[in-house]
Amino acid sequence: MRDSGKYPNTSLLLLNKVLRIHSIAVLTSGGDSPGMNACIRAVVRTGICHGLKTYGIHRGYEGLIEGDIRELQSLDVSNIIQRGGTILKTARSDRFKTADGMAKAGDNLRRYKIDALVAIGGDGTFRGAKEFSAKYRIPVIGIPGTIDNDLYGTDFTIGYDTAINTAVEAIDKIRDTAASHNRLFFIEVMGRDAGLIALRSGIAGGAEAILVPETRTDVNTLIEKLREGWIHNKTSMIVVVAEGDEIGGAFKVAERVKKEFDYYDIRVTVLGHLQRGGTPTAMDRVLASRLGVAAVEGLLKGKKNVMAGVVHQDIVFVPFSKAVKHHRDINPHLLKIAEILAK
Ligand code: ATP
Repeated sequence: MRDSGKYPNTSLLLLNKVLRIHSIAVLTSGGDSPGMNACIRAVVRTGICHGLKTYGIHRGYEGLIEGDIRELQSLDVSNIIQRGGTILKTARSDRFKTADGMAKAGDNLRRYKIDALVAIGGDGTFRGAKEFSAKYRIPVIGIPGTIDNDLYGTDFTIGYDTAINTAVEAIDKIRDTAASHNRLFFIEVMGRDAGLIALRSGIAGGAEAILVPETRTDVNTLIEKLREGWIHNKTSMIVVVAEGDEIGGAFKVAERVKKEFDYYDIRVTVLGHLQRGGTPTAMDRVLASRLGVAAVEGLLKGKKNVMAGVVHQDIVFVPFSKAVKHHRDINPHLLKIAEILAK
């Protein structure tokens, strides 16, 4: 069917006569990430644009179980595109993993006559969505909202770009003080299972070494690298450590290095939750907006149980089963670049 280019789109309206989606709900789940608000806004406004009743579910699956649900109008999502966090709040819900919790969630969707769901979150959120949609036959589209960028099937997740920029800003500031005192800093960034934030922020911050969970960390090689820097009269050294590095985070690595390398005064900074908050970058806002629109229009085209993602700038839909099962590899070229440029 030809797309008229007008909104609401006539072909979608006709398709929806068959699908009969009259109302949708959106929730945010798992860890928050900057850009979730921009995504909520996009889902709500696209829903309204297509004549759908659009609900917001508070506190993720926990709110779905408790019926913490309210209809959202266009004005309810005004002035939030630039705000970090999530106006819908988020939660981790153990109850949703139980048959009783899911049944209550299903009952609430029926009570509000919600025909389809948009779930913004990480792989745990999609695991829950997959089970829920299979049991209660409700179409769900997931949107990747996590700072870790660890999901298979999308080049970027919402919040990743902002988190990297936050980490780089912090690294730059620490570099100033490190250079003034001839110090070696170990900076821990987020990433329990994935070193993507560490790798990109480390390259952008000119780190002397980057330690990620995807590659084995050899302390002797690290010390050798740091010693070379000292021989070349480096006035400061930065080692970026992903929190999930197998040695055990920045404090543990610093402790091991300190035993054999005392040329510099050694300090440790853990960036922690700083990386989750803050104003989303333009890139995250645009990504969130695109994925929000794509998710609602995807539902109206009959897509279900998939994650909306972006690959090579194009919108794609990846089955939940693939998105949660496959491990996202770290780019070996970026690791190489980091190695070359640290000399
Ligand atoms: P982040 O990447 O930021 O941690 P996430 O979505 O992976 O986000 P999780 O805490 O792993 O965060 O998952 C969010 C919620 O999804 C859980 O609190 C739980 O309610 C639900 N969930 C996760 N796995 C399952 C599952 N197997 N069955 C049902 N629900 C699940």
